[in-house]
Amino acid sequence: MTDSVALVTGASSGIGRAIARRLAADGMRVVAAARRVERLHELAEDSGGAIEPRALDVTDRDAVRSAVDDVVARHGRLDVLVANAGVMPLSRLDAGLVDEWDRMIDVNIRGLLHGIAAALPHFLATGSGHLVTVASIGAHAVSPTAAVYCGTKYAAWAITEGLRLEAPPGIRVTTISPGVVRSELADTISDPHAKAVMTEYRKHAIAPESVAEAVAYAVGQPPDVDVTEIIVRPVQQR
Ligand code: NDP
Repeated sequence: MTDSVALVTGASSGIGRAIARRLAADGMRVVAAARRVERLHELAEDSGGAIEPRALDVTDRDAVRSAVDDVVARHGRLDVLVANAGVMPLSRLDAGLVDEWDRMIDVNIRGLLHGIAAALPHFLATGSGHLVTVASIGAHAVSPTAAVYCGTKYAAWAITEGLRLEAPPGIRVTTISPGVVRSELADTISDPHAKAVMTEYRKHAIAPESVAEAVAYAVGQPPDVDVTEIIVRPVQQR
């Protein structure tokens, strides 16, 4: 994968940070994007130059396009887009936290679409490229308090699968669906009931590096192999 270039969104913590580190360790140039740039600078410093920080809010369509265009302008290529940025402020629907629903839709669905809109023209122009979407086990099953979050992840799964079906040969598409992983994701939950449910649910979380390993596996396959989906979850998660 040496000389290949990856853009990883949501790389300031958790799974995205582990993916950025892992792809860099595998020899890729990695542009690590998120809003908390100070975190990205630390990540870049630790990487010895393999990782570059990039301030990015994925809900801003123009900013996502600029970020992708900048990567291509500066490196001459974009091989992999890892659409990982996500939020999970869980709550029951009857809690009526409509602003939080909107935020999940904006980041988890629109953020992914902005990435596809920005990267696909480059992939089509070169006839190659790889979209890796970090969806969730919540793209396969719904649970109470997670209706909207799961809705966004079902959508992410469907959009990614749609791209796989439409894309010409040469463009690869992978969905990574993690189970419970140690990260800051549950910190976005404001609803006390959902927070309590999650504390129990997240007891057996696995390391984000296990998800990064799955991404590295998908990315590292020969160009004619599409790893369509990998589900990675704790053994104890039923
Ligand atoms: P974290 O909260 O640790 O990381 C989320 C990342 O998304 C952060 O880097 C955050 O960066 C970024 N982010 C949030 N909003 C935006 C935004 N508007 N623009 C750009 N970046 C944004 O959680 P995880 O690492 O767990 O989450 C990563 C992905 O994995 C998410 O899509 C999540 O849904 C998915 N996932 C996680 C699971 C888990 O158990 N941890 C299970 C299944 C799926 P910043 O705030 O600096 O912008």
